[in-house]
Amino acid sequence: MPADAADIIIPAELLPADGRFGCGPSKVRPEQVEALVAAGTELLGTSHRKPPVKRLVGAVRAGLTALFDLPDDWEIVLGNGGSTVFWDVATFGLVRDRSQHLVFGEFSSKFAAACAAAPHLGAPSTITADPGGHPDPVAEDGIDAYALTHNETSTGVAMHLRRPAGTTAADGLVVVDATSAAGGLHWDHTEVDVYYFAPQKCFASDGGLWLAACSPAAVERIEEIGASDRWRPASLDLKIALDNSRLDQTYNTPAVATLVMLAEQLDWMNSNGGLDFAAGRSATSASTLYGWAASRSWATPFVADPQQRSNVVGTIDIDDAIDANEVCAALRANGILDTDAYRKLGRNQLRVGMFPAIDPADIDALTRCIDHVVDQLA
Ligand SMILES: *Cc1c(COP(=O)(O)O)cnc(C)c1O
Repeated sequence: MPADAADIIIPAELLPADGRFGCGPSKVRPEQVEALVAAGTELLGTSHRKPPVKRLVGAVRAGLTALFDLPDDWEIVLGNGGSTVFWDVATFGLVRDRSQHLVFGEFSSKFAAACAAAPHLGAPSTITADPGGHPDPVAEDGIDAYALTHNETSTGVAMHLRRPAGTTAADGLVVVDATSAAGGLHWDHTEVDVYYFAPQKCFASDGGLWLAACSPAAVERIEEIGASDRWRPASLDLKIALDNSRLDQTYNTPAVATLVMLAEQLDWMNSNGGLDFAAGRSATSASTLYGWAASRSWATPFVADPQQRSNVVGTIDIDDAIDANEVCAALRANGILDTDAYRKLGRNQLRVGMFPAIDPADIDALTRCIDHVVDQLA
């Protein structure tokens, strides 16, 4: 028996073709890197105020509208800073006074904290569930924004997006953190007003950008707050971002390479059948991973309710007799990367990215590699 987990050698025939299983940044497909090389001297290193880069931003906006099958009156808004910055953007430009937050993990708790800290907003209402499940939104007087999380990346819980019973957008906007879900899970635009994300998860690009699909009611809210005298830092001003997005620009300089890789991923998804294709790949991977875990005595899907198990982020508890950190170390030594649990969750767990870019066959290979490692550790 090897003395050290990192000395375990996984037979080459068991290894996945690509060893990247992280939950963000996540696997970038080789074709996206080729697109970067092809963008070479015509796009990279050129002005974001000139037609070639503006066309690229336009292609991203059109690609997302097509992927999500959005009506013509929806708008794609974008800016710099990633989803974390969008939380601050939302406190300044989307929440009128009070928001309600479903808190069921690290990411969903952070937007609630941002709203609680904003001096110009009323105290948010929070509905909390223990990690491993999710609460449901409840219609509440005085709430003008309901903050949902499509996929809680820290726990592997996905939720079906629905407006609180009996409400419409006029009662409160439904504002969804879809950072790890967008492009890998289905959703119904009639149940949502703002669907925001960053491109380093299902879109397999780099971080640092936020994108938000906005309903007409959301655009109206942005205009309303934009016309008010609330102080808003310009770089976090959603009205400025909206005005720039309509011109296929960002307020300040974006990472052009991030946009190139995002556009390539959107092309790949849309030309292969759109969200049915992309979400279908994640669904296949998820059924492989959870099915495998259910068939091993030492592995259990962390999310008890199969309806709430995520197709894009799989969390698998490991029996205490086996140290999941050692399993991860052995996998890493063999080129299989980033299968660690979310650190603050503090569980003996593996967490596996199953974004559309990840080949379902590689998820199958990963399960065989874990079997091999556990067998060697025993
Ligand atoms: C990754 C993630 C974030 C943070 O995204 P950044 O772009 O790093 O700010 C927020 N919410 C969820 C659900 C995420 O998965």
